[in-house]
Amino acid sequence: MDYLSHPKRASDKELWSLNMFTHESMHVRGEMNEARTECQAVQRNYRAAKLLGVPDATARQNALDYYNNGYQDRGRIGGMQSAYYSAECAPGKAMDEHLTDSTWNTL
Ligand SMILES: [Zn+2]
Repeated sequence: MDYLSHPKRASDKELWSLNMFTHESMHVRGEMNEARTECQAVQRNYRAAKLLGVPDATARQNALDYYNNGYQDRGRIGGMQSAYYSAECAPGKAMDEHLTDSTWNTL
């Protein structure tokens, strides 16, 4: 709710909350592998933010900010975090689902 009250100045924690919403939704769909689940979420955070009522440009920026910061941190931190990260989760790489409304479409 904090995120939705001021999405234009979302904190890292609030962007994590958006991603957690999307990530857990991917598990509900049936995906159990954490790296695949997280990559599906990364590509859908833009869509998820819009579904939650965030204006288009802000939703795109929020989703890209999570991908460029929180997601990349998972790869850098290593350990348990690395189970949620794949170098193949990037535009044009193996885990790119080429969604028409992908977070990455402007990259
Ligand atoms: Zn998970």
